[in-house]
Amino acid sequence: MQGRSPSDAIKPEVRRLSPYTLKHFEADVKLDQNENPYELPLDLKRQVVDRVLRRPWGRYPEFVPAAVIKTLAKLSGWREDGILVGNGSNELIQATLTVTLGPGRSLAAPQPTFTLYKLMATALEAKVVDVLLNPEGLTFDVDALVQAARSSDVVVVCCPNNPTGTLLDPDALAVVVSNAKGLVLVDEAYYEFSGQTALSLLGNHPNLVVLRTFSKAMAMAGLRFGYLMAHPAIAQEIYKAKLPYNVNIFTLAAAEIVVEKRAVLSDAISKLIEERERVTAELQTRPLVRVFPSKANFVLIRTQKPARELFDALFKQGVLVRDVSAYPLLERCLRVTIGLPEENNRFLEAIDQALETR
Ligand code: PMP
Repeated sequence: MQGRSPSDAIKPEVRRLSPYTLKHFEADVKLDQNENPYELPLDLKRQVVDRVLRRPWGRYPEFVPAAVIKTLAKLSGWREDGILVGNGSNELIQATLTVTLGPGRSLAAPQPTFTLYKLMATALEAKVVDVLLNPEGLTFDVDALVQAARSSDVVVVCCPNNPTGTLLDPDALAVVVSNAKGLVLVDEAYYEFSGQTALSLLGNHPNLVVLRTFSKAMAMAGLRFGYLMAHPAIAQEIYKAKLPYNVNIFTLAAAEIVVEKRAVLSDAISKLIEERERVTAELQTRPLVRVFPSKANFVLIRTQKPARELFDALFKQGVLVRDVSAYPLLERCLRVTIGLPEENNRFLEAIDQALETR
């Protein structure tokens, strides 16, 4: 290390990056991370603990966790040999990009979208092609996406898109997939709130990869579990970049039980969808707020106030949301997760107070 700074050992692309992080705030009403406010029932949590207590903790999990993969295959209708599980879907994003991107390779990503894709691609020294959403309604620019797909190694489509809540129409997605030079990664983290999936395209399009998480609708963000569905030949390749034993026995047991008992979550999911529609309709009556229609468990809003000012005014009233105004096209925008009905009411009251609209 003589004469060098220790950080000279780090790739310049990485040194230039800002980390994926979130400042921690304590608040009564937490609407900043698109989590599910409905906790899993205590008896279900006890079943998970009981199952884990019956297993040796000193032994590794299986290399390929067969039971949970079988359960996911039944749930999705996709083949077992085309399913990979991860320590959160973040890990599977990383694994997918690791096997596809590097110097001289490229990722096309709509902007604004979930920031991790670009962060990972940049750390891998790949080129990132930003495909801006249509600035007015923040919908996908299908022509630009198809064009970018023709020359990129990976195209990522977050559907519904975080942080806008927008969907890419299934026919448009089919056109993107058919024209893509490389892989199309469809991130369906919020799928359960939209009901729309790319799964039906998977059979005929071996370049498609569909990603899901248990962190949102399935109320398991704290346990870290996600899964990926792809053509078996592609899944086998992505498998090579995933760490061995990446999902611990506790999370595996929880995922199995939550899928078996998923009926307990249906009411929560329906309620969150109903609340999303109610909050959207309520906000539409406020002349000083623009709300973008969303198919996820959050809504994006724009006001005349600087985002930081509105964020602070809401926070002072105990309501924590996400300031997304630094994303491309999202000047003066905040993202608000749909919470319990009383939490959503607190948010509506707080925004009225902050904007003096009522
Ligand atoms: N994809 C999208 C679009 C997300 O919004 C998130 C979480 N914010 C993730 C993936 C990561 O989820 P996980 O908790 O499964 O790693």
